[in-house]
Amino acid sequence: MEPHGSGADPAPVAWTPLTGAAHSIALEVLLDGPLPRSELARRLELSAGSLTRLSKPLLDSGLLLETAGAYDPRSGRPTRPLDVDEHSHRFVGVKLTARTAHAVLTSLRATVLASEEAPLPDTSPEATTAVVADLVRSVAGRHLDGEGGGVRAVGVSLGGLVDRRGRVVDAAFLGWHDVPLGTLLEGELGLPVVVDNDLLSFTRAEQWFGAARRCDHFAVLTIGEGLGYGLVVHDEVVDRPDAGVGLVGHVPVLPGGPLCPRGHAGCAEALLTVAAVEARASVALRRPVPYEEVLDLALEGEPLARRVVDDSARGLGALVAAIGNFTMPKKVILSGEGVRLAEVGREALREGIRAHRSEHASELVVDVQPTGFTEWARGAAVTAIRTFVLGHRR
Ligand SMILES: [Zn+2]
Repeated sequence: MEPHGSGADPAPVAWTPLTGAAHSIALEVLLDGPLPRSELARRLELSAGSLTRLSKPLLDSGLLLETAGAYDPRSGRPTRPLDVDEHSHRFVGVKLTARTAHAVLTSLRATVLASEEAPLPDTSPEATTAVVADLVRSVAGRHLDGEGGGVRAVGVSLGGLVDRRGRVVDAAFLGWHDVPLGTLLEGELGLPVVVDNDLLSFTRAEQWFGAARRCDHFAVLTIGEGLGYGLVVHDEVVDRPDAGVGLVGHVPVLPGGPLCPRGHAGCAEALLTVAAVEARASVALRRPVPYEEVLDLALEGEPLARRVVDDSARGLGALVAAIGNFTMPKKVILSGEGVRLAEVGREALREGIRAHRSEHASELVVDVQPTGFTEWARGAAVTAIRTFVLGHRR
């Protein structure tokens, strides 16, 4: 694929086979640059001489560049902080839902440059591969300004179990079992394609370029059609085979609460999914009420809607507290299509957390991050960026 068609696309500057300190320098600058050399040397525990020696080939190859001078306030001398040219490489991220494929084109720092979506009328692997390949070509071609590099890699994320070779082991919402989606797409596109569970992708994006930048221990909880959970410990995304199974869905959060389809009373799915909130509000108000209207009515002070929202938000608080108690993260990021519940039910959420935490526990930082399909697709792009930068899949 040649999305630029200008012939001006420079050869990609290799991030790999960088190893050791050179790779650490490049990664620090990618994640936090521009960075003064003194700061880089301090972070990586390198002498000024070593940093100069190690960074020279990175500058010569164009992977790093020196930015316009600034004055170091401590020494009063001019500095030329190191940075990367984030537009030297582009990436495409695609998020698959049961009905639609959403795509974004991003820079090397996951800045979204363009977005596009396509319906999936037929979710067979062959038809989906064809739609996604066309969508990738289309969104890659939407930024034809003649600047910047071509697309280096494509990330695809979906709700399901995905192995490290990009094979979708199970994705019930598409009816897929053992679909080699990564291989199929690479055959179509001629580009590296990395396929990942959507929650893991989103967690990786928060870690590198999102609300948890430079946080080495945090959890992500998403609420929407279902519940998702991701965990980062010692700066590593916990990427075990069970990570895509959605195991927090049936954790009990409200004793004696409503039943989920599997018969659990008051489990997270019975209280926190969009469908669960709509179902309880529709019974309380004796008419079908869509999710956003339930939240609007609660904000307006409608007592039945307020009760439904607060019960759910309290249950959400119990789940957040359980995550805090079991995994002791520095922060919990709440997100997903249904996350407005955490804002409208803020007081009940806090109550729920307090009720399940010890007074000796540190305060749990809860960070609410609104998410739409653009953010999910950006997460997929970050998985591709990481593959490109780190040289290994996921
Ligand atoms: Zn359940």
